[in-house]
Amino acid sequence: MRDVTSKRAVVIGAGFGGIALAIRLQRAGIQTTLLEMRDKPGGRAYVWKEQGFTFDAGPTVITDPDCLKELFDGTGSVLSDYVDLMPVDPFYRLCWEDGASFDYNDDQEAMERQMAAFNPDDVEGYNKFHAYSEELYQEGYLKLGAVPFQSFGSMLQAAPELIRLEAWNSVHTMVARHIKDPHLRQAFSFHTLLVGGDPFKTSSVYGLIHALERRGGVWFARGGTSALINGLVKFFEDLGGDFRLNSRVERIETEGDRATGVTLAGGEVIPAEMVASNADVVTTYEKLLGRTPRGKSKAKSLKSKRFSMSLFVLHFGTSQPQPQLAHHTICFGARYRELISEIFSGPTLPDDFSLYLHAPCATDPSMAPEGMSSHYVLSPVPHLGAADIDWDVKGPEYREKIIDYLEERYIPNLRRDLVTTRIWTPKDFKTDLDAHLGSAFSLEPILTQSAWFRPHNRDDVIDNLYIVGAGTHPGAGIPGVVGSAKATAGLMLEQGQTVR
Ligand SMILES: Cc1cc2nc3c(=O)[nH]c(=O)nc-3n(C[C@H](O)[C@H](O)[C@H](O)COP(=O)(O)OP(=O)(O)OC[C@H]3O[C@@H](n4cnc5c(N)ncnc54)[C@H](O)[C@@H]3O)c2cc1C
Repeated sequence: MRDVTSKRAVVIGAGFGGIALAIRLQRAGIQTTLLEMRDKPGGRAYVWKEQGFTFDAGPTVITDPDCLKELFDGTGSVLSDYVDLMPVDPFYRLCWEDGASFDYNDDQEAMERQMAAFNPDDVEGYNKFHAYSEELYQEGYLKLGAVPFQSFGSMLQAAPELIRLEAWNSVHTMVARHIKDPHLRQAFSFHTLLVGGDPFKTSSVYGLIHALERRGGVWFARGGTSALINGLVKFFEDLGGDFRLNSRVERIETEGDRATGVTLAGGEVIPAEMVASNADVVTTYEKLLGRTPRGKSKAKSLKSKRFSMSLFVLHFGTSQPQPQLAHHTICFGARYRELISEIFSGPTLPDDFSLYLHAPCATDPSMAPEGMSSHYVLSPVPHLGAADIDWDVKGPEYREKIIDYLEERYIPNLRRDLVTTRIWTPKDFKTDLDAHLGSAFSLEPILTQSAWFRPHNRDDVIDNLYIVGAGTHPGAGIPGVVGSAKATAGLMLEQGQTVR
C-alpha cells in the first residue's frame, strides 16, 4: 500500500458532507483544505444569532449519532470532547386540525396505547411495518448507505434485495399496506419530507428512517446544530486541517481529464491532487466546471432531473416561554396527498400548508434569553422551477399567514409576545447557497435518481474529482450526507495511493 500522506486535497464547501469528508481525509494523513464561501460553516446548517436568540437555519433533528461518532475513530478523541448531544423526547409530537395528536418516540408500550386509540388493528399493522423498516435499515442503510455506486454492476448486485423489499413501491404504499388509520398513515410516512422526498413517490427503501429513529433515537446538540458544526470544524483543525471561511471557489482547474486544483474568487490558485465538491451538484458542473466539455454536458443532463421541493422558514423569538410545545411538532394541515402533490409540482403556492415547528428550548433553554423562547417553523413549498413566485412580495404575506395559524392553534398571544422574526425563502436557497432552483435537498430521492442513478461520488470522466453531500449517493439529511462522505472518502483514499 502506498503512502497517502504527501497528497493534498481540496474540499469545496463546509456543509455537513464537506466537513465529514475533510475530517476523514485529514485523519488519514491527506493534507486537506476545506473552503467555505460564507462567513460561517454549516451550509444548510448555518446559524443566526439575534437579540440573544440562537436560530439554527436548517437541520435540528439529529438521528444516528453513531455516524458522527465514527468520524473520530482511531484519533484518540471522541465526539463528546467537542459537543454534547442531548436526547429529545418525544421524537416528534404530531398534531392534526381535528384535534388528534400522537407523541412518537421509542416507547413501544406508549406508542401501542396511542395507536390503539386511533384503530386497534393498527397496532399489529404497525409492528409489521416496523419489522419491514428494520429489514430496510439493514439492507438500505447498513449495507448500502455508505458504499459508492460507481458502476451499473454495483446496482445489479443490490437489485435482488431491492426487488425482495419492493423498492419500486412508495413509502406511503408500504405504510398503507399495514396501517389503516389516516392519521397513522401520515405519522409513519411523512419522514421522507425531511430528506426532500414525496412520500407517495419516494422509494419504500426510505421507510428505513423509522427504524433508524427507533434504534438510534433523536438528539439535539447543546447550543444548537451550529454547536455541532463548530465542534466538527474544530476537530478538523485540531487534526491539522486547513479551514478557510469567505473563500468562494470560482473554478475547478483541469488539465485534460484531470483536476489540478481550484481558483478562488480573489484569484488565488490552490493546487491539489484531489478535489471534492460539497457545493450544489448542478452548480459544481455548470459554474465551477462550466468551461470544460464535461462540465457542460453533465450540467445539461442534471438539469433534466427532478429536484426536491424548497422550504419557507420563519424564525421567531418570543418574550414568554412556551412550555406547551414539544421540541419537534409536525402540524398537519387538512390535506395530505393533494397538498404534497402541489408542493412538488406547483404551479403555484398552495393556500394551505403543513408545518414543522421547532421549539429547541424544550430541550435546551440556552437557545433563548432567560425566560424567553426561540423557534422556527418551516413550510415545504414548490421550488423556483415548479412555481415562479416573487418571494420578496410573497414572503412577508406568507409569514403573516403562518403567524396567524400558529397563534390560533399552537402559541396563544404569539403576536403580542413576538420579539423578533426573520424569514428564509426559496430565493435565499438560490442566492445564498447557489442551490439549483432553490431546492432545499438537491435531487429528489425517487428510485430512478437513487444509488447508481444519482450523481456518482467520483466523476465518471475527471477521475480525481469527487462529489459529496445531498446531491450524490445516498442523499440528503445528516446521516445521508455523512454517509456520502464515507463513500467518497473511501474512493479518495483508494485513489490517494495511486494518484499521479
Ligand atoms: C430547513 C432545513 C431543515 C432540515 N432539517 C433536517 C433535520 O432536521 N435533520 C436532518 O438530518 N436533515 C435536515 N435537513 C437536511 C440537511 O440539512 C441537508 O441535507 C444537509 O445539511 C446538506 O448537507 P450538504 O453536505 O449537502 O451541504 P450544504 O449544507 O448544502 O452545504 C454546502 C456548502 O458549500 C458551500 N459552497 C457552495 N458553493 C461554494 C463555492 N463555490 N465555494 C465555497 N463554498 C461553497 C455553501 O456555502 C455551503 O456551506 C434540513 C434541511 C433544511 C434546508
